[in-house]
Amino acid sequence: MLLIFPPSAKACEPPPGLARLHGTLKHHGVPVHSIDMNLEGFHYLFNQKALAGDLWGKRALKKREQNLDLVTGSKGYANRDRYKNAVLDINKVLAMVSRPSGSLVTLANYKSDTLSPLKSEDLLYAAAHFRENVYYPYFSERFKDLLSKDGRALDTVGFSLNYLNQALCTFAMIGYLKHLNPGIRIVLGGGLVTSFMRKPGFASPFDGYVDVMIAGKGEGPLLDLFGFERKEADVLPDYGDMVAGGRYLSPGLVIPFCTADGCYWKKCTFCPEQAENNPYEPLDVNRAVDQVKALDAIYKPALFHFVDNALSPKFMTRLERSGFNTPWYTFARITGQLGDEAFCRSLKRSGCRMLKLGIESGDQNVLDHLTKGIDLGTVSRSLTELKRAGIATYVYLLFGTPWETEAAARKTMDFVCDHKHLISYLNIALFNLPYFARGWEYLETSQFYDGDLSLYKEFNHPMGWNRSDIRDFLAREFKKHPDISAIINRDPPVFNSNHAAFFFD
Ligand code: SF4
Repeated sequence: MLLIFPPSAKACEPPPGLARLHGTLKHHGVPVHSIDMNLEGFHYLFNQKALAGDLWGKRALKKREQNLDLVTGSKGYANRDRYKNAVLDINKVLAMVSRPSGSLVTLANYKSDTLSPLKSEDLLYAAAHFRENVYYPYFSERFKDLLSKDGRALDTVGFSLNYLNQALCTFAMIGYLKHLNPGIRIVLGGGLVTSFMRKPGFASPFDGYVDVMIAGKGEGPLLDLFGFERKEADVLPDYGDMVAGGRYLSPGLVIPFCTADGCYWKKCTFCPEQAENNPYEPLDVNRAVDQVKALDAIYKPALFHFVDNALSPKFMTRLERSGFNTPWYTFARITGQLGDEAFCRSLKRSGCRMLKLGIESGDQNVLDHLTKGIDLGTVSRSLTELKRAGIATYVYLLFGTPWETEAAARKTMDFVCDHKHLISYLNIALFNLPYFARGWEYLETSQFYDGDLSLYKEFNHPMGWNRSDIRDFLAREFKKHPDISAIINRDPPVFNSNHAAFFFD
């Protein structure tokens, strides 16, 4: 089986889902090959010829190799301004080479001028008109080459579709493969596909192109597809094909690893984990630590990225006790433990460089309605102890939830200002109402995006704190506040939290 991670997403680390599938299939005797076509697609596009255009374009083209070296080597991270210029120059080159095809590619996105990834008819169009896709010259040659080396290489091809910016390219690739070999079996899975399939009443509109769609974990369904009995669960992920496949856009190898699917808290009312009712399935904690240590020994990464929705304190404690000290970062919930000096110091000893923390609001009433299960006193203590221990914090804020008023949003602004020395980075988001969220039937809603695959709905804010007011407040006041803009300006452009930990020792 051929497993593919399609363009376009940030190409800074190998995709964890593919590594998990690869490990399990190989372990059970299924011949498998994985290709990170997102990474290969980036290198293909980045090296295309382009007309220089304006002065910035000329400079970006001239410094192509130099900028790539800065982003993929430690030197680039010694100076934030130099790093920033390199990333923006790379984006400029991608934009210049992609515009003639009617799309706009950046380091983190793929946008078509005419097609929407939220409309099934547009995805089907992308499949039928695969030659129009900007990556067509790359993927057509790549697939033909694979076929010429091994006639069975393209019998079954699985795509891991996780982000909207991958959807149109995924379907262009599928369309080409079906054109090349109508008998090919196409399997489609990944986070985005799971969300599509968990929408009530979902029926696949992709017949004729996609043979099998998988929601949730793919290991079991794929083994069933090949008639193999699953003898062992939770096999060690295998990144080998992907790591050998090219140069990722990070200063050292980053290995993503998931210790648990779902979330151990699963109570936050705004969260898709809750709306989709995804089960919490942790690895046995000792096994998880053993696997991380095994991956550390095999790949010798510069950084581990634990991709859990919220890493469990139990795993963190066990990791430290194991003597582990390779750098790592993750999402974590604020709990009493993070307010404990000894616990934070133990985290630092185990290699923790940065924690991503969903604080969401500086108003306790909003937090209580969100069922975050945190109080602002604990948040303050946690930020203080993490700072003392030398662990960076990437704080996530969410504006516009149904319980937030303008006064509450101002409390969030005050909270950030009061803690400005303790917050390393900020992520600011506007609340989206999940299409199939439960318990919010009282809200007056309408279609958010124009597309049958939309995952969110528009709603009239019950307190009149609507999106245009919030955007206005964020742009005119929140982001302009000198204490807050200083934090925002620290954020690595485009790569954000994916590269943030590299700026801290
Ligand atoms: S802790 Fe995070 S992942 Fe878990 S329910 Fe809350 S928002 Fe969702």
